[in-house]
Amino acid sequence: MGHIVLLGLPGSGKTSLGRMASARLDMPFVDVDAEIEKLFKMPIRRIFEKHGEKSFRDAESAATREALLREAPSVIAAGGGAILRQENVSAMRDLGFVIFIDRPSKLIARDVPLDGSRPLFTDPDKLYEMERVRRALYIDAADRTLENREGMEEAASGLIEIIARSQPVAEYAVIGDPIAHSLSPAIHGAVFEALGVSASYSAVRVSRGGLAAFFDAAKEGCMRAFNVTSPHKRDIMPFLDHIDEEATLCGAVNTVVFRGGKSLGYNTDMDGLSASLLARGAGYEGRRVLVLGAGGAARAAVLKAALEKAAEITVLARDAKKAEEIASAFSGIAPRIRAKAMTERAMKESAAGADLLINATTLGMSGSGTFPSLEFLSALPGSAFVCDLIYDPSQTDLLKRASELALGCQNGLGMLISQAILADELFLRRGLERAALHGIIEEKLSAT
Ligand code: NAP
Repeated sequence: MGHIVLLGLPGSGKTSLGRMASARLDMPFVDVDAEIEKLFKMPIRRIFEKHGEKSFRDAESAATREALLREAPSVIAAGGGAILRQENVSAMRDLGFVIFIDRPSKLIARDVPLDGSRPLFTDPDKLYEMERVRRALYIDAADRTLENREGMEEAASGLIEIIARSQPVAEYAVIGDPIAHSLSPAIHGAVFEALGVSASYSAVRVSRGGLAAFFDAAKEGCMRAFNVTSPHKRDIMPFLDHIDEEATLCGAVNTVVFRGGKSLGYNTDMDGLSASLLARGAGYEGRRVLVLGAGGAARAAVLKAALEKAAEITVLARDAKKAEEIASAFSGIAPRIRAKAMTERAMKESAAGADLLINATTLGMSGSGTFPSLEFLSALPGSAFVCDLIYDPSQTDLLKRASELALGCQNGLGMLISQAILADELFLRRGLERAALHGIIEEKLSAT
């Protein structure tokens, strides 16, 4: 069991509830405000008066970090203003499970004497203003929200329930079927290790029929976030409270984050692919893009190419109707987009007018079929770049032939790593050193 961190306004019940939970769960209790008062040997109100708010906030950050670095898993009542600094939010999320105790300021003002015993807490208007500014920050920083509107006993039972449920399920996971081959646990494990984040990431096999049950368990069981792979990227969408704009347009979600009790869906495949192309100087902008395939990855590649101003886009698929469906979905965004059946002839003709080829079919993947002929590659201009989304094997026949033709090329590993780092930024709610992490992951994968 890791640390449990309680957030909330002054007077929301963090200390009382934290004490009750620590007694019932036999975990040590740390009240960050009390630690600071011990350090300064004076009440918080006096610290504010004598040393000013900045000194108090500095002490609050140091005490928060110290509490989180304790070895014994503890219940920690964070200072009410700890969320005002991003460093505190990151540390709380990296090293603990964060619960927002949501007690409306009107109820706090009714119960707690506004006698100046706490700073910034002398009249109801100040408290209401504090709630206006901070409530969204608390929700944003928290894994779960506990409503504290009834009695303390009821809130304490709710808190124990959340804590109990937060433990047995993995904090992060990738779901799919099949899933045993997934590199995601190794990739995210390497990121967590590099960042000093104490969290588990597992691969969970979830069949098509088992998605609803998994989602309920993840939500109820206080999972923090999960990645989604085939066959669930579309099917997960109706379960979510909110889906971001690009994922909605794409019609696929590969990252689900629980934030303040709500489930939010994102698609990092699209940005992962463009980041990996840009890293090789092969971004979409101004290029004539040829996409093979009409599944989820093809749709993401076409949408991103359209959004990033490709000069023109051609989609070829064995089922022409599926290619046409993608083309018509994005014809309003892309200046020139066309779709055709993936015949030998269409491949050659389209290759002759393309400078970025993306293979988004499963052809060439271990255990799948291969392209009947790779002759179409010879039709590509000499400056064209070939991207195969497949990373197993690391060099497909398509890439082998493209190399022989001295074309620039890359496999799907760059995309896989980039989409994972982008997902980690959503998990951890902060920007990361992407290039450095990319290197660390590559090293880790090559060693396994
Ligand atoms: P998907 O939704 O199942 O789409 C697969 C596509 O391949 C479909 O258009 C399918 O056509 C086509 N296809 C399968 N067999 C074919 C054949 N014999 N001839 C012609 N087309 C064929 O899968 P996806 O999620 O889009 O993934 C596609 C590829 O991208 C996979 O290799 C996957 O590993 C890779 N990928 C890589 C990353 C990464 O991070 N590198 C991320 C996502 C996907 P039908 O629709 O007619 O069946």
